[in-house]
Amino acid sequence: MTLSKTAVLNDGHAIPRIGFGVWRLDDNKAPDVVAAAIGAGYRHIDTAQGYDNEVGVGKGIQSASVPREDLFVTSKLRTSHQGYDKALESLEASLERLQLDYLDVFLIHWPAPAHDLYAETWDAFVDARSRGLVRSIGVSNFAPEHLDKIIAETGVTPAVNQIETNPRYQQQAQRAWNAAHGIVTESYSPLGGDGAALLKEPKVSAISERLGRSPAQIVIRWHLENDLVVLPKTEDPVRAAENLDVWSFELDDDALADLASLDDPSGKSLPQPNENNDLF
Ligand code: NAP
Repeated sequence: MTLSKTAVLNDGHAIPRIGFGVWRLDDNKAPDVVAAAIGAGYRHIDTAQGYDNEVGVGKGIQSASVPREDLFVTSKLRTSHQGYDKALESLEASLERLQLDYLDVFLIHWPAPAHDLYAETWDAFVDARSRGLVRSIGVSNFAPEHLDKIIAETGVTPAVNQIETNPRYQQQAQRAWNAAHGIVTESYSPLGGDGAALLKEPKVSAISERLGRSPAQIVIRWHLENDLVVLPKTEDPVRAAENLDVWSFELDDDALADLASLDDPSGKSLPQPNENNDLF
């Protein structure tokens, strides 16, 4: 199966299928880790206001000396900055911290329905895109009810929905909903999250041995073959290169069946969309 290294969003922009996750990297570590990742070939970086590392990520981007137009940078709105005016001010502050003129994608990090601000926040995102502060706008951790509401109120469908997705928590219903509405699904915690316990699953180890690829490569390839954009995080440059080297093999039917069998509805590590109103 030949896979494209980019996906096309519903606004026509192309997005690299593998992005570099930077959650849990602080401003001290981020410059070197991000610069090394770009040096290894990553062109898509996934940060967030809530990771408190946009300054460090920005330094890494600047020191990597890759032209801005060749990079794809995502950030996410901190939940406490929701609301029309606060969202726009906060996007401008992100750009300043990142030393960028525009973001490729800006996401509402969580719907936080208890605050009931995500719809007016989405209005601000639509206007930010018109003003050229961001090329594509999207959401994260949104369920159908949140998506229905913002689409009905603005007529604008998000380009992406970034959700926790991996073989142990496959999110088939939300992925199908996204696809049916022309929304690209991005997988966060694609290796199972911090500590990557998923990579030690006996079925993943067995596929890894049989196909001669590392457990992380097997899992990243699963995301790609499932038409997902995938955002693995690592602080280790050797692992960063390994996680990008997934284009020259494919999963066979046995491997796909074994990975499909790992799905567990209770396998989610972060809260459900409606249950988090303050984290990040
Ligand atoms: P992840 O990428 O699923 O897993 C990261 C863990 O895997 C780390 O412990 C890392 O350790 C380890 N790892 C990475 N490559 C490896 C390899 N080749 N072999 C063995 N272990 C490996 O976890 P995540 O950071 O939760 O998710 C990825 C990104 O998704 C985040 O960084 C963030 O950008 C995004 N995210 C978004 C949300 C949201 O609400 N939108 C939530 C969570 C995450 P080392 O670093 O020590 O190598």
